[in-house]
Amino acid sequence: MTHAEGFDEVHILWISEGMSCDGDTVSVTAAGQPSIEDVVGGLIPGLPKVHLYNKVLSPTLGGEEFLAPFRAAASGELEPFIFVLEGSVPNEKINGDGFWSSFGNHPDTGEPLTLNWWLDRLAPKAWAVVAAGTCAAYGGIHAMAGNPTGCMGLADYLGWDFRSAGGLPIVNVPGCPVQPENFMETLVWVLQHAAGEAPPPPLDDKLRPQWLFGKTVHEGCDRAAYYEQADFAKDYNSPKCQVKVGCWGPVVNCDVPKRGWMGGVGGCPNVGGICIACTMPGFPDKFMPFMDAPPGGNLSSTLIRPYGAFIRRMRGITNATANVEPKWHHNREVLTSGYDPRWRP
Ligand code: SF4
Ligand code: SF4
Repeated sequence: MTHAEGFDEVHILWISEGMSCDGDTVSVTAAGQPSIEDVVGGLIPGLPKVHLYNKVLSPTLGGEEFLAPFRAAASGELEPFIFVLEGSVPNEKINGDGFWSSFGNHPDTGEPLTLNWWLDRLAPKAWAVVAAGTCAAYGGIHAMAGNPTGCMGLADYLGWDFRSAGGLPIVNVPGCPVQPENFMETLVWVLQHAAGEAPPPPLDDKLRPQWLFGKTVHEGCDRAAYYEQADFAKDYNSPKCQVKVGCWGPVVNCDVPKRGWMGGVGGCPNVGGICIACTMPGFPDKFMPFMDAPPGGNLSSTLIRPYGAFIRRMRGITNATANVEPKWHHNREVLTSGYDPRWRP
């Protein structure tokens, strides 16, 4: 079926041979709304039939059987497909006598096929291209200062103005690793678009889904009331706001404190982990050393101290009065509630 009417079947080719720890694949197995099984099993109404090819989740024994759909897609014999990259893209122009990252071998020469070889062939043919996790989106930990591979995110490699065969920009779903349902929700939107049932997913200028990354960690944090009352944790065993012990939440785009991690539970600062800004294009260099208070956090937490200390004291007084039952709740032989039996118009 042509895309004007929507596709009935879509292949998902997922390569995790970018510079990565495979943590995004592992993370996505924890998704529940929907789960990857729901999508592959056809349980989500309105989606095309999905054929998933992912190293960790493959029923094959690997080798050529696993590589077959990737080879077919590279030669234009398998379509339509969504290409998912996990991990950052090394710079093979500076690989010396070797290579940085490969995926299978050339059938004739037996030489390793680099990740970049696959990207050059698969990305232009892909109906949509999705970067799973911060490494694929922006380079991540492997791309930090001092790295030897010159690695980068997918948009740095393909170009920020890249358009897929389906006319879509790269879809970045950052996170280290990606939050399971952030990825699945985005994938479902892209699949619904492929089915002709939805418009393209709205992205911000860093190519992130707007509805997932439009708010800051701080705006969704369980501890934000402690911040407002200038009540700051001095160590990691405290339930109070962690800005003084290294939380970057006020300036980081991420929905994890709202969404939780698995089944709505978890969410970095909510459960005691400082936000180290793992979804951000400048991660990790701009946010290190991780356990020092952010410079802006020092300023804002100092400015809020007089207001917060005063308002916390006032709320303490009001809280004490609010914790007292009304004086007419008693067992004496007289009614003191103010009840008036005479009806007046
Ligand atoms: S712990 Fe972090 S995100 Fe939460 S209120 Fe404090 S600074 Fe904001
Ligand atoms: S809250 Fe911070 S550390 Fe946690 S996933 Fe979001 S950006 Fe990463």
